[in-house]
Amino acid sequence: MSEATDATAGTAEGEREIPPPEELTHGQYAGTHCVWCARPIWEGGQYVGVTLGQAGAHDLDAPVYAGPCCL
Ligand SMILES: [Zn+2]
Repeated sequence: MSEATDATAGTAEGEREIPPPEELTHGQYAGTHCVWCARPIWEGGQYVGVTLGQAGAHDLDAPVYAGPCCL
């Protein structure tokens, strides 16, 4: 198995900011909706990063996805 290197390259030019968890809908937070425009992702969803947040002692970090609409 060879490791993929493209997803861990850090901040690439043109990368968009991921909104914090409190600004996301349930669908966006769950990864079923586009993190930027909130449209449902039916196909072609792509991992775009992690939303970072905390609520009290709870870690709210979660992977988020974008659909073809925003890629
Ligand atoms: Zn979108």
